[in-house]
Amino acid sequence: MKRIYMDYNATTPVLPEVVDAMRPYFCQKYGNEESLHQFGNEAKEALESAREKIASILKANPEEIYFTSCATESSNTVIKGVAFANWDKKGKIITTPIEHSAVLAPVRWLEKYGFEIVYLPVDNTGLVNPDDLRNAIDDKTLLISIMWANNEVGTIEPIEELVSIAKEKGVPFLTDAVQVAGKMDIDLVELPADFLTLSAHKFYGPKGVGLLFARKGKRFEPLILGGGHERKKRSGTVNVAGAVGMAKALEIVTKQMDTESKRLSKLTDSLIDGVLDRIPIAQLNGHRTKRIPNTANISFKGIEGESVLMGLDMAGIAVSSGSACSSADLTVSHVLKAMNVDLVAAQGAVRFSLGKYNTAEDIDYLLETLPNVVDRLKSFSAL
Ligand SMILES: *Cc1c(COP(=O)(O)O)cnc(C)c1O
Repeated sequence: MKRIYMDYNATTPVLPEVVDAMRPYFCQKYGNEESLHQFGNEAKEALESAREKIASILKANPEEIYFTSCATESSNTVIKGVAFANWDKKGKIITTPIEHSAVLAPVRWLEKYGFEIVYLPVDNTGLVNPDDLRNAIDDKTLLISIMWANNEVGTIEPIEELVSIAKEKGVPFLTDAVQVAGKMDIDLVELPADFLTLSAHKFYGPKGVGLLFARKGKRFEPLILGGGHERKKRSGTVNVAGAVGMAKALEIVTKQMDTESKRLSKLTDSLIDGVLDRIPIAQLNGHRTKRIPNTANISFKGIEGESVLMGLDMAGIAVSSGSACSSADLTVSHVLKAMNVDLVAAQGAVRFSLGKYNTAEDIDYLLETLPNVVDRLKSFSAL
């Protein structure tokens, strides 16, 4: 049977060129980058050249780039690290209810210790209103954390405006840019955000490698203490092969971004139009145009998104219902809830997220298969 992957927002396959770039750093150049001998030097050079390559792509300074184990760690580091630096006086953190759990879980944790958390509302397409941010900031505000693009519905936030409000008020700004890398340009000169997080496995790099950009002079306590690696901000022997892989992956996706985004955007549009045409109970969630080019979140009213996922899986098509992180429990997506999508529609939500290896034939096959899956489930639910 044909197998088609349409879940690139959950994770992506590693590119062969990335594996090739990483390979020497397992069996031959395996030194610890802290060691003072040749093996160590070799590893150190590879690590620093990966850091420089990434910095130059993001228009940052190499000393503003920290390697971590994942974007979850990066976001935890900033949120807890800023809170730890202000532990005695506590204070306010402003975020949104549609963040990834990598942000929501640490802010909820801080709430238990006396920090005030403010969740800005989003409209029914998932957009934050910049005026709400402006009004929420006060002199107790320690940090603002707003994602650049949402992983479930794909909505792109007005990030330039949000960051400029934070700048104007002098409050540090963190943005989770995990779903932006390789899809849109990230230019940290143009976007003066203070903190930004990325994850290699979301852009055809290896799992287990995250990135934290922290602008020079921005204060945060380290989350992981030990030997003082990564300029004392993230101890633990650095994953050199992983850093090399992340740099290679970012280089490739950046080079291909313009053509690939156009291609994916066409495919996603034909997916959306095709599904809405063929299936009367389908409705699109998120913003029609302010969306990353690969993501379509579609509700099938009256049937379970989870059942659609299973039905498609039996036909060889891999999608997600809600987000990969929340699909283990049967509650509806916190993102759709915050967007005020009605409960029945929210329960029937399916996320299609396309990527490099999807073709027009994949969309055709989906459009042949999906109406049958939905019809069958509809007749069950009518019983
Ligand atoms: C996947 C994802 C994360 C978490 O990344 P990990 O590296 O797997 O921890 C955070 N934010 C968004 C928007 C994501 O899509």
